[in-house]
Amino acid sequence: MGIKVSIESHAGFCSGVNAAIKQAEDVLLEKGSVYCLGEIVHNKAELARLVDKGLLVINYTQFENLKNATVLIRAHGEPPETYQIARKNNIELLDASCPIVKKLQFRIKNDFEKSVNTDFQVVIYGNAGHAEVIGLSGQISHKAILVKEPADLLQIDFRKPVRLYSQTTMGIEGYRQIASLIEEQMLDANKETMPELQVNNTVCKQVSRLVPYFTEFAKRHQIIIFVSGKSSSNGKYLYNICKQANANTFMVAGINELCKEWFDVISYAGICGATSTPHWLMQEIADFIENNF
Ligand code: SF4
Repeated sequence: MGIKVSIESHAGFCSGVNAAIKQAEDVLLEKGSVYCLGEIVHNKAELARLVDKGLLVINYTQFENLKNATVLIRAHGEPPETYQIARKNNIELLDASCPIVKKLQFRIKNDFEKSVNTDFQVVIYGNAGHAEVIGLSGQISHKAILVKEPADLLQIDFRKPVRLYSQTTMGIEGYRQIASLIEEQMLDANKETMPELQVNNTVCKQVSRLVPYFTEFAKRHQIIIFVSGKSSSNGKYLYNICKQANANTFMVAGINELCKEWFDVISYAGICGATSTPHWLMQEIADFIENNF
């Protein structure tokens, strides 16, 4: 008897990525080609599919030198400078920024502008250099303190108030941990009156809601093949969730990364993926395992 493979039913694109890809496909169908500022999705296979259809991925230097063109903005969102350059260079922007990210950008900007206490520090928990984090910090002229590891907290002045936000695709446990470390340090640094610590729950629920489903699914299968691009933040996080529930979990970007030996004594395999993993790729891998191992 061969291996029976099932795909976790909640795995795959979140609404933000789905809408951005749909927008790209629509415009490619109409125009044949369109520029996209940065990789539209952290998944090489899906990106290659769209590049094949005419998507032209450009970097920021190329964007700055572009004039009178149409450019797609991906779900991660952009800082205000991108919109300024577009206005200056007569670039039409097709804005596929995820509405959840847009809302968070607005919240950070609004909290900052309407604050009477100018002493507070905006702290963002996320991956420095990630497009979404650049877009968020850009809302307040890149004045945010970016943290990911406990060592990064040294940048914070614990005697002053803190407003903490998270990149939408970070893990909730890591966020809580960073928030309690900040609180501890603030308590230590302020024996008399504790300055305000505002922890904003900005982890996207479309990522956090997957945790119980993936945990349960990983426990029910002998092996989990987690399909994700290596640079996907939520991919790394959700892979670790599966790995904690089932040590026999492996991350692959495509068929060529599968190892035959993993399946030697396996009857039931499960496929999971990130919010940037296309369903067709998970299906391709499931079919390959069923037909070849
Ligand atoms: S993870 Fe959430 S916030 Fe990020 S693109 Fe997807 S839906 Fe939007």
